[in-house]
Amino acid sequence: MKPRVRFAPSPTGFLHIGGARTALFNWLYARHTGGTFVLRIEDTDTARNTQAAVDVILNGLRWLGLNWDEGPLTSDATGPVKGDYGPYFQSQRKDKYRLRVEALLSRGLAYEQDGAIKFRMTREPIVIQDLVVGDVERKLTDREEQDPDFVIVRSDGEPVFHLVNVVDDLEMNITHVIRGEDHLSNTSKHIALFRAFGVQPPKYAHIPLILNPDGTKMSKRDQGALLTAYMEGGYLPEAVVNYLCLLSWSPKDNREKIRLEEVIERFDLPQILRANARFDHAKLLWLQGEYARELRDDRFYELCVHALARAGIDTNRFPVEYVKAALDTCKGKIKLFTELPAYAGFYFKDSVDYDPDSAKKHFVPENRPRLEKLRDAYARQEPFEAAHLEAVLKNVAGELGVKAAVLVHPTRLACTGNPAGPSLYHLLEVLGKERVLQRLDRALASF
Ligand code: GLU
Repeated sequence: MKPRVRFAPSPTGFLHIGGARTALFNWLYARHTGGTFVLRIEDTDTARNTQAAVDVILNGLRWLGLNWDEGPLTSDATGPVKGDYGPYFQSQRKDKYRLRVEALLSRGLAYEQDGAIKFRMTREPIVIQDLVVGDVERKLTDREEQDPDFVIVRSDGEPVFHLVNVVDDLEMNITHVIRGEDHLSNTSKHIALFRAFGVQPPKYAHIPLILNPDGTKMSKRDQGALLTAYMEGGYLPEAVVNYLCLLSWSPKDNREKIRLEEVIERFDLPQILRANARFDHAKLLWLQGEYARELRDDRFYELCVHALARAGIDTNRFPVEYVKAALDTCKGKIKLFTELPAYAGFYFKDSVDYDPDSAKKHFVPENRPRLEKLRDAYARQEPFEAAHLEAVLKNVAGELGVKAAVLVHPTRLACTGNPAGPSLYHLLEVLGKERVLQRLDRALASF
């Protein structure tokens, strides 16, 4: 039988980077083996579930490209690819849990106590044969030692996590449970439940925790802990996916940038690293830069336009060729798309604000006649192309007996407002003669 795996998030908080990695490892294993990836929303805790959290999970998985392979047909078309099926929701499967509890009760494997239903837990030790962690025998706590039985249906009638998790894994024929190591402590309960239902438990692979750079456990409150931080922070999903692959897995040859198809080919459970993984923002940012550099033009433009629009900069007012030429000067220069409005916003503004420190330094009286001379030389220059603009500037600098930088800085500041940015001569060419002269004139009038 081909493997069947699942990602089973509880929609009680927002999708954590650790949850995203759990989803990814399940998806990779399914793709590696030709198996099936199931998405199951564990929404039995009605007091803590939110629809917003469900949406974040679905959007996050779609953004990462982790499509799920089956689910009930839905009218609201939440399927990721074909758009015809949604994830499984435990809240829609209550009958199944009730029948399973009745079966346990009728066989004396569960009993009622104070209105709740408790599972008669085995008193024998249980060894978990984990594909990542190895064999684990969990010691009972003192309290469990006295009474290892545990509640499977609360007195308000709501089934408890351990029960619904196991019933679903059983009914969905899950073959491998790949989940965070924080669930290792629940696993002996789960194995006992599987046995009580008369079936072999699935294989388990508990993946190590993700730690902060300082070695503390990463929690929801830590910076960069939520997937949405990357979705909204100008990251490319392929960079995030590549980075998540490296958290507890490695292609063994020290490579860090690795194409997803190759990860799929090589990914396997026994190779998951045992040690906790430390989150390394610098590495993620490096990968982001690598993927950003390689983007196909049309996708690069689309992401740029989107990032500019989010910052309130409307590129639609400009001819498409102008927008593309402007963005071409940014390719390979920015890592995060959120950097773009500050980096390239000057192309799309009627007038720019001068960086105050640079203005103090470069808009000084001795630069006035120099900048005027350059302005006049540019006014005469035709065609207005980068190579010529560079030659003209150097020529003017030569005549003035100053270094090119003496003209470069105030020119850049006048035309972009920034002390740094795209290659000067290219950006001047893109802006075009009219805008460049206008901006130089405005700067000259300002000091
Ligand atoms: N709903 C559980 C969680 O979000 C899933 C546990 C599991 O994967 O078995 O932690």
